[in-house]
This record gives sequence, structure tokens and C-alpha cells, in this order.
Amino acid sequence: MHSNVIKKMDTSLKEFVEYKMQIHNEDISMNDLIESKITINWRGKVICQCGREMKKFYRSGFCYTCFWESPKASQSIFKPELCTAHLNIEERDLSWEKKFQLAPHYVYLANSSGIKVGITRKTQGITRWMDQGASQAIILAEVPNRRFSGDIEVAIKAHVSDKTNWRKMLSAEPENVNLQEIKKELSSYVPTDLQGYISNDNTVTHIKYPVYQYPKKIKSLKLEKNNEISAVLKGIKGQYLIFDNDQVFNVRAHEGFVVDFSYSNKSLQSTLF
Ligand SMILES: [Zn+2]
Repeated sequence: MHSNVIKKMDTSLKEFVEYKMQIHNEDISMNDLIESKITINWRGKVICQCGREMKKFYRSGFCYTCFWESPKASQSIFKPELCTAHLNIEERDLSWEKKFQLAPHYVYLANSSGIKVGITRKTQGITRWMDQGASQAIILAEVPNRRFSGDIEVAIKAHVSDKTNWRKMLSAEPENVNLQEIKKELSSYVPTDLQGYISNDNTVTHIKYPVYQYPKKIKSLKLEKNNEISAVLKGIKGQYLIFDNDQVFNVRAHEGFVVDFSYSNKSLQSTLF
């Protein structure tokens, strides 16, 4: 059997989000595995994006060298308001930072566990919302670079959260809110010099997830604690696999883990999604 490095699931927006995961070199429809038993075995090895293998990551999914030297782990990745490529100022690798930062970005409002503000590259818009488990989203502003989106986000997060409460997001569908109204209200907090970037697009994207059963008292599964996970898949939301017995598995938090996957055959229930 091929070994398999966990990567985040691919998503497509359909009536229910369709999830695909690369398992042993095959694109597997995860929606089809709902109601099937899935077993994930960790072999005690992880691989950093740079290709280095080790027993565990140093920090935030990176090896020691990448965490301290790669532009993918620089401060402005976590705090976009610190981006400086638009001023020609290098943080760790100016040519990489220019490619990454000098591209159209959205500032958006989403409802996943209550209203939150976030930023994303324009090309990632809907993907980002699906990865976060948002049920509704609207574009607040469209800006030419990552720094401006960070500046707007900082101004807006004084009024709404910039984090998803993942426990709440995984407990139920949130109540619908009027995002167009909320956008109107929050727009006044966009800094004066960036007001011109407020988007005229007031489309609200609605997103539904293939969840057959929501957990009640959530238990988060971590491969570092249990190197084997074996449970029946009950749904998928954001980048979380929801299993029976109130267990959830954050796929994204396990990117780079080398595992073996196995699952029982497709069951009839899966035709629900
Ligand atoms: Zn590395």
C-alpha cells in the first residue's frame, strides 16, 4: 500500500459542498464515504512543505528552518497588516512576497458561528469560505494587494470577530443573518483612504455541508495523541471530518502527516449527499 501524506480536502460548491481527498494516489469522494467506517493510521512521521521528514513539526506545520526562514511562515502570513511588498520592502524573500501579496484580495464577511471578517486572495474566495465552514458569505471590499485587505480587516475586527469558533461551527448550522445589512453597517468603519475599495457586489453566497449528524459534545481527535483513528463518518464541514460518538478530525491541522487510510465500502446512506 502507498503511504499517504495528508493534504487539505478539495472542495466544490454544489447543492452540498463536494469534498475530495487524495488517498493513496486516488481522488476519493469523501461525501461517498459518509456512513462508512474510516481508519487512519499514523506512522509517527511528518513531512514539511520543503520535503524534510521528521517525527514532528517544529511549529505551525513547519520544520525549524522553514519556520524561521521561509516566506510562507513570515509574520505577515499571520498578520496581513504587516505586509510590505507593495512598498518594495522585503520581509524574507521579496520576489516570493511580491507574487503572493501583490494580487487582488477580498475582505469578506462570513457567517459560520456568528459573523466574522476575513481576507483571502480573490482567486480563493469561495474555497476559503468552504474551508472555514461558512454558511453565508459576502464580499465587503476588493483591494489590489494583501496589505490593504489587512488594513481593512484590522479596522473591522474592532467590531466583529476575525476567528471562527470551530466548536460552534461544528455543532449546528448557524441562524441566517442579513449579511447585506451588516455589510452596510460595517462599511462605515473601513478607513477613509480605503473606502473606494468597498465592493458593489452584494451577492450572498449560501453554502450547505454534507452533515448527516452534528456532534453534541465535541471531542477533537489528534493523531499525536492516538496514532489510530477508526470511526464512522457522519459528515463533513469546513476542513473537519465529523465522526460518530461526537468526534471530529481537523484535516488541515494534520497536513503533512504520513498515514495509511482504509475505509469500508460505499453505503446506501451516502446517496443522501
Ligand atoms: Zn521545512
